This record gives sequence, C-alpha cells and structure tokens, in this order.
Amino acid sequence: MYPNYDIIVVGGGHAGCEAAHAAANLGSKVLLVTMNMNTIAQMSCNPAMGGVAKGQILREIDALGGMSGIITDKSMIQFRMLNRSKGPAMWSPRTQNDRMRFAEEWRLALEKNPNVDFWQEMVTNLLMEGNKLVGVRTALGIEFRAKAVVLTNGTFLNGLIHIGEKNFGGGRTGERAAKGITEQLVELGFESGRMKTGTPPRVDGRSLNYNAMEEQAGDENPEKFSFSQETQALKHQRSCYITYTNDDVHDTLKKGFDQSPMFNGRIQGIGPRYCPSIEDKINRFAERNRHQIFVEPEGWDTVEIYVNGFSTSLPENIQYEALRKIKGFENAKMFRPGYAIEYDYFPPTQLYLSLETKLIENLYFAGQINGTTGYEEAACQGLMAGINAHNKIREKENFILKRSEAYIGVLIDDLINKGTEEPYRMFTSRAEYRILLRQDNADLRLTEQGYQLGLAAQERYERVLEKKRHVDELIQFMRKESVDPDQMNGTLSELGSAVLTQKVKAAQLIKRPNVGINSIKDCNEKLAEQVNHYDKEVIEEAEILLKYETYIEKEEKMADKLNALENYRINDTVDYNQIKAISNEAREKLNKIRPSTIGQASRISGVSPSDISVLMVYLGK
Ligand code: FAD
Repeated sequence: MYPNYDIIVVGGGHAGCEAAHAAANLGSKVLLVTMNMNTIAQMSCNPAMGGVAKGQILREIDALGGMSGIITDKSMIQFRMLNRSKGPAMWSPRTQNDRMRFAEEWRLALEKNPNVDFWQEMVTNLLMEGNKLVGVRTALGIEFRAKAVVLTNGTFLNGLIHIGEKNFGGGRTGERAAKGITEQLVELGFESGRMKTGTPPRVDGRSLNYNAMEEQAGDENPEKFSFSQETQALKHQRSCYITYTNDDVHDTLKKGFDQSPMFNGRIQGIGPRYCPSIEDKINRFAERNRHQIFVEPEGWDTVEIYVNGFSTSLPENIQYEALRKIKGFENAKMFRPGYAIEYDYFPPTQLYLSLETKLIENLYFAGQINGTTGYEEAACQGLMAGINAHNKIREKENFILKRSEAYIGVLIDDLINKGTEEPYRMFTSRAEYRILLRQDNADLRLTEQGYQLGLAAQERYERVLEKKRHVDELIQFMRKESVDPDQMNGTLSELGSAVLTQKVKAAQLIKRPNVGINSIKDCNEKLAEQVNHYDKEVIEEAEILLKYETYIEKEEKMADKLNALENYRINDTVDYNQIKAISNEAREKLNKIRPSTIGQASRISGVSPSDISVLMVYLGK
C-alpha cells in the first residue's frame, strides 16, 4: 500500500536531517520517519552552532554539500570567530542561533526536496526477513520497506529524564522515549550501553537585569558558515551577556545535593566530562568561588534565555532559588527547569568506517546513537551515513574521509577504532593534522569530493577552482615581488616589526608576526594593484599559506607517510587467531574491529607497533 523506498531514515534530528537530505539529493527515494514533525532539527540544548573544532566540522559539512552550514547562516543571530589571537588552526567560527528558525529552515529545506517523504510516528522495530533488513515497523504496526535504513535516534532510546528525585521516561523534555529498537538490536547481537547528558534551565529575559552583566557582542565584521552564495553575513546582531555564580549560589545548590540523581547513584550513564553540570563543577572545583555563566538569547524575537554553564538536574525549586542569587538574575522567572537524561547508545566499534553496521548489512547508525554528543558531530555522521547508504544500494564505493582530510575523518576513525566510553565530542587536540584541517580551507579540501559525489553543486565547485587559482596567483606574485626598505620601514615600525636593511621578497616579509598582506600592501604600488584584485577570502588564504608554510609542509609530509599505510589493504577473511606472535589484546581487538588497512589497524587502541610489524610480515607486506 505504501511506496517502497531506497532509504528510510529514522529520526529527524541533526543526523537524520543531513542523512535524508544527502541521500535524497543524490537521487535516492527517502522516507524520514520521526516521532514528532514539529521537532524536526530541534536544538535539544544550547541554541548555538560551531565553536572550537565543531566550527571546522560545520564548514566541512558545507564544503561537501551538506545543509547544516546554510541552515545555521539562515537562522544565526550572532557570529564570532573564536581564537582569532591564536594560530589559524585554532580559529573557530561560532554562531548563536534562533532556535525556532533553525528548526523551521531545516524542515522547509527537506520539504523542498521531492525525494523526501515524511511519516510522523515511532519506529519500534527493524523489519527483518531472516538476516536481511527490509525496512521498519512503526508503533501502529505499519510496515515500510526499503533497501537501507539509517538509525539516528539521538537521546531517545529508553530515554529517562531526571529532575531531583523525580524521573520519568522521555527522549527530551516534553517528548516520549523510543521503545523497542534497543531490545531488538540486542537480541540481534548488538552490544548497547548507557550514557547521560544534561541541560540548564531557561529563563524569561524580561526578568533579567542586563546592566549588572558584561555584554558579549558579536564580531564587528561578522562572517558566515557557508561557502555558498546562498546566505549572507549578518547586518545586525544580538548580544549575549556574561555573569558569574557566587558562594551564595553554591550554598543554595548544595542544599539539594542529597536529592541529586548525579550524587545519589540514580543516574548510571556516563556523562560528558568536559561539559559538567553546575553541581559537578562546585563539587570538583571546591576551591573556586565563582563559575562563568553565559546568558544567551534563544532567538531574534523570543524573550526566552538559555543559561549556559548552569546545566543541572537538581530539584527545580533549588534551581530556581539558586538562579535568583546570580548577579543580574535577582528577579529571574524560570520558564523550564534544567534536567539530565540517560539514554541507550551502541558502542561504535560495531560499525565499519562507512557507518554501516557489521552485523546487519544495509543498516547504518549516525549521531548520538553512536556515543557522540553535539549537533555538529551528529550532523556530519548523518551526512556520511546518507551518502554511504545511497552508494551502497547502487553498488558504488564507500565514501571515507581520511584523518588528514577532515575532522569528519578523525571523528569517524576515532569512533570505529577506539570506541568511546563517554559522550564523544570533537576537540582540535584529537586531530594530528590541525594545521591542515582549518576552517578557512574546508572548501579547498573537500568541495571537489562533494562535487564528484554529486552533492556539491557545479557552481560551488567552480568557485573553489577560482579561489584556488587566485590564491596560487597571489602567492606566486608575493614570492617574486621584492619590497625595499624605503617603501616598508615606516609601516614596519608602526607594526612593531624590525626595519629592513635590504630588499626582501614580499612573501618573506609576510612570515613575520604582526605583518599581514593588507597591512603592507599599500607601501608598494604593484603589490597594492595585485592584491586589490582579490576578495578577502583569497587574501586570507594566501597569507595563511605563506605564514605557516613550514608547518604546513611538515604536516603534509607526515600525513603522506602515514597515508602510505592506508594503501596496505587487509583482506576481510584474515584469521587473526592464526597469527601467534601478536598480543592477546591485539588479536581480540583486530578480530572485533576487522580493520580494512594496516593504517586503520595501527590506530586501534591496544594494537602496538610490534603487533603491526608482525601483521605486515604475516600479510607479506
Ligand atoms: P537528536 O537530535 O536527539 O534527534 C533524534 C531524533 O530522532 C528526534 O527527532 C526523535 O524524535 C527521533 N526519534 C528517536 N527515536 C525514534 C524512533 N524510534 N522513531 C522515530 N523517530 C525517532 N550536546 C552538546 O554538544 N552539548 C550539550 O551540552 C548537550 N546537552 C544536551 C542536553 C540534553 C538534555 C539533550 C537531550 C541533548 C544534549 N546535547 C548536547 C546533545 C545534542 O542535542 C545531540 O548531540 C544532538 O541533538 C544529537 O543529534 P541526533 O540527530 O543524533 O539526535
């Protein structure tokens, strides 16, 4: 009765939206089944996108032809480039977003796609014929058939919400938990675990005294996420504010510690260490008498405010009392209390690098179900699962990104080879090739691949080719053009840089700290004439490539060396039990993860360099 689909995506969160959009854009007929169509692309926690390492991921999604960057731009209310004072590997775009518009833009984007159908209901089962996955079954007993299924259930699988001593089933506040899928997957042989996360209370902005807080405005010259021309930078922005907790707030919160599900053992799931609740911070850092609170608007028009830094699962009356002791919050009215949520996840070592499960062919997992946390982490997995599910049913190659190509590659490689014991969040420190994986060059790194896949539009690809050509031209010009002391020394003194005693190439001068292309260009007529041909992006790119040339070359060489190991393929039929000289731990992990290359094997925790040497000899490499 109902149509058959190529791909069914279960869940309309950040992972599900990207998966559905990618697969449908590539030409698959997609059914997006989600429990509530009014909460498609809901930001469960803070109304913000990007930030350190996450901003890089968002740019990568955009460069490949995903939608999250465009949706973010269309709904942003503030833009900041974090870490501008550090090296470019650390520059990280971050936006504050209008929560309602973000969700609305995503839904409209999906509705525009004729290859996406929707169904609002809970999926309770995978539809299996023997070992073969053929679709899904819903709570109403409706069966939808498809060639592949992508599960993106987020925090909903057996979700349990905690507020003080109260707890109740739910996938997010006000939404039901999802039942059935975990139980069936475990029966089919999957291993599952339990994690937890938390969120702060929301308050009424009309009840706050902003005069008592520090204003945090957006960038003076804001940029945007998407490399496409579909979106524009903001002309005006909304500010956030900063305030602090104090001893009085801490004492009030401590009154509720004996009712805290975190401290009395009721919460068993493991939470994100780097994103602790306020009670955790008070407990762990007892010597600190204040903690920073970011007061973030939830949108352009709404008065609702997100109290970032005050995540808690203490009783709601304690939350309310403590909030009102924060400077500027004396008259605060609370809209919603904070809460913690526990949910099921599936250790990601049960997946291939394509995000297809090893146990069931054509079944893919993406997002928080894999033990990650964060919108960006979820969205990029959704994109990759959508692409790979589409490719698989058309018998095309898997699309895998290397660690040296993208943060997305780092994330998936880490998950599959190391697994994760706590909610996995991306940090720049997880990437060994940080200077290569910058936010500014995500388009140069990835758009060609997105275009080859059929996801990034021709016009985007042409723009990238042009950017590359212009950057190369400018660099060549700077390498050839000499500047002399008479022209430069005045400006160099102003910039606090040593004066020249003889002519040098412009490219050489740019390597100095404090000296940029724009700051010296007007000292030399030819330089100014050349530079003025190019837009801001090109000048910035050329400057980074010249300034950090030595570091970039070093990392490129390292990446080439390691990538050579990726060329040594390991046949899936290898019987590791036959290799006597490797350690027991290595044997167990290799059997479980079944790496497809020597490079991948070398990154599995518990597999040592000597195990790799033995393996290479065994494989005759
Ligand atoms: P979700 O966004 O959770 O979406 C899952 C979707 O699947 C939902 O639309 C749901 O309706 C649907 N669904 C689930 N099961 C079924 C089913 N059986 N049938 C049909 N539809 C189904 N991240 C951070 O980075 N920092 C934080 O501080 C943070 N705090 C959080 C606090 C809370 C309370 C919550 C709930 C999440 C928090 N997160 C945080 C995590 C962030 O929200 C998620 O990482 C991100 O939303 C995951 O995206 P996803 O697509 O995997 O799942």
